Amino acid sequence: MENANSYKKMATKLIHAGEMRPRVLGAVTMPLFHSANYEYTGEESYDDIRYLRLNNTPNHLVLHRKLAALENAEAALVTASGMAAISTALFTVLSQGDHLLVQNTLYGGTHSLVTEDFRHFGIAYDFIDGNQPDSWVTKLRHNTRAIYVEAMTNPLLQVADLKAVTTFARKHHLISMIDNTFASPVNFRPAERGFDLSLHSCTKYLNGHSDIVAGAVIGRAELVEKITHRLNHFGGSLDPQACYLLHRGLKTLALRVAYQNQSALQIARFLEQHSAVAGVNYPGLENNPYHALARELFDGFSGMMSFELKGGKAAAERFMEQVRIPIIAPSLGGVETLLTRPAITSHAGLSPEDRQARGIGDGLIRMSVGLEATEELIADFAQALEAK
Ligand SMILES: *Cc1c(COP(=O)(O)O)cnc(C)c1O
Repeated sequence: MENANSYKKMATKLIHAGEMRPRVLGAVTMPLFHSANYEYTGEESYDDIRYLRLNNTPNHLVLHRKLAALENAEAALVTASGMAAISTALFTVLSQGDHLLVQNTLYGGTHSLVTEDFRHFGIAYDFIDGNQPDSWVTKLRHNTRAIYVEAMTNPLLQVADLKAVTTFARKHHLISMIDNTFASPVNFRPAERGFDLSLHSCTKYLNGHSDIVAGAVIGRAELVEKITHRLNHFGGSLDPQACYLLHRGLKTLALRVAYQNQSALQIARFLEQHSAVAGVNYPGLENNPYHALARELFDGFSGMMSFELKGGKAAAERFMEQVRIPIIAPSLGGVETLLTRPAITSHAGLSPEDRQARGIGDGLIRMSVGLEATEELIADFAQALEAK
């Protein structure tokens, strides 16, 4: 087995970290093992039996080592989806009677888990503002166990004071958790900043090809092991075919995200100066309120942004009809540029007043920048903005 720590740079780790040595029958790429069960070799505990639901086939183990190496963390675990990673991690860290501090701008699925499901398990929570660290202590309770934030918020791309999160967690003996999906390990590695657990929807940047659903938990070995045992009982293991595709997709992560970072910045600059655009939310822009924080924390500003058109809802609808290259579809982080209107998709469940209060107007468009030629995308946006 390759020592996952023997590679220093992300691009090299993506290709070589955690791979089987010697290579399986000399195969240059890791083969796909479609076996549900494996012969006994003297395993003593249930969690060590080699069985597909226990997430310990060769395809899983290679991914676990590689993902841990990417974030310079101790351990990793792949799961059946991003929500399987998030829910299993939260239901491991928290027990009945516990309390969670959680950022007030959560991904929709996580928001529903916390606000709808937690109470059935006797778990309490309070929302915090990620940029008001002085206010967090007022929400602390004797039974607070963890603090949970996201690297960049959807769809406004706000950046919380992530350094304050880990400082606060250490001071108050909380487990610090971050959903790192939007940043990806290329732009942010939570373990390096003292986070205990990083969670991913691998459906997005890590796989990057919009062809599987998968998740990952990356972080401290002792916690990842506990989460693995819970996952073994909950059953949210990743199918080997999806493991294979995730492994394959991961190899180009550094190239993809570097391209998406710079393409998104150019597109954001184009949109920002266009007379039909009211505002662009992208932390890579110098005048963005989160720019200084993002610069300090991240190696890149991501391929995600949102923007508001001066003509509001009608202009947004027209723009979405007129663009030729992007696809109007949910999800993000793939090779194709995707557009959504949060008011009718991710945030449709909120009242119009709640949406306005959160800065999500009816004319807001969210974009996940793909790998198409930047100048061709910009030309397409220009014609769509000018269309009558
Ligand atoms: C998509 C997403 C999830 C959920 O992931 P699934 O793979 O769809 O279960 C969680 N967090 C963020 C930030 C996401 O974008």
